Amino acid sequence: MKAITFRDFGAPDVLQATEVERPEPGPDDVLVRIHAAGICYHDVLSRGGRIPGQPGRILGHEIAGTIAAAGANVPTERIGERVVLYQRLFCGTCRNCLRGRHDLCRNSRVLGEQGGGGYAEFTVVPARNAIAIPDGVEMTAAALAVCPIGTSVRAALGVAEIEPGNIVLITGAGGGLGLHQIQVAKSVQARVIAVTSSDDKAAIVRQAGADDVIVSSDLKFSREVWRLTAKQGADAVLENVVTGTFGESLRSAAQNATVVVLGNIGAQPVELDPGLVIMRRIRIAGSGNATFADVHMALHLLATKAVKPFIGRVLPFPRASEGHALMERRGVTGRVVLQGW
Ligand SMILES: [Zn+2]
Ligand SMILES: [Zn+2]
Repeated sequence: MKAITFRDFGAPDVLQATEVERPEPGPDDVLVRIHAAGICYHDVLSRGGRIPGQPGRILGHEIAGTIAAAGANVPTERIGERVVLYQRLFCGTCRNCLRGRHDLCRNSRVLGEQGGGGYAEFTVVPARNAIAIPDGVEMTAAALAVCPIGTSVRAALGVAEIEPGNIVLITGAGGGLGLHQIQVAKSVQARVIAVTSSDDKAAIVRQAGADDVIVSSDLKFSREVWRLTAKQGADAVLENVVTGTFGESLRSAAQNATVVVLGNIGAQPVELDPGLVIMRRIRIAGSGNATFADVHMALHLLATKAVKPFIGRVLPFPRASEGHALMERRGVTGRVVLQGW
């Protein structure tokens, strides 16, 4: 089968189209013909050798396709089903898996981390990882149901537990996560205040549904949040940046707010004012991969058009390197999705 691999870590052009052996499904697996695969910034870091792993593998964990073959224990009726792949290959028996938190399974790995990823004609996954796509949701959109849309559902509805009428502050709002988080928050009738550092992102942030947009090149936005909320602050903060913004996010938080940490742009420790956290009873919580329930919610939001995926560019698979280059120099707004050979 055709696949995109890389022999060494390096610049985007290390990604090359080549022929590799097509994987065979085991008894509990399905063989999936891949129709669309999203390029995540995680893939860019993996290719550059900035995340632990080996070169030579097939990257990509944002995968939609159709079931082409099924193992002996999988109902043959599933062949032909349109599916999105839950990105984490989990054990299914640990206490986290048993309570539906497959995202926390410690005996697991993410598709594409050690190969088997989405930049290929086919992949093999356990049948339980293949989730049916509702009618009316296109493959390119479905590819984003796990990440970034499912990730946004986890942060906004799972961790921050955003409710109607809540005020939600979103940093890095013009990024791939932010644009989807805005829509997820609006789907439950929250009020969204979006922060972006550049003027040219303001229009698209508004298009995504933000009620207020703060363009803040110096990242001093808390005063404006205070003004916009009549000194109440934000009930939830979705922090996609953290480096250079975390202090202002805490200062923007309302009493008893939840500040969700998703971003790690600078990959460096940040300062925290304990007095502020105590005074306002702020909860700081990390968030990561979607759960199965989050993916189902993401698919529902896509099917009902409550969330419209932001896809900046669709490229054929052999041009994956171009997609990586675009991501790296932030030359595109929204996701780059690979589709077709
Ligand atoms: Zn991703
Ligand atoms: Zn487990």
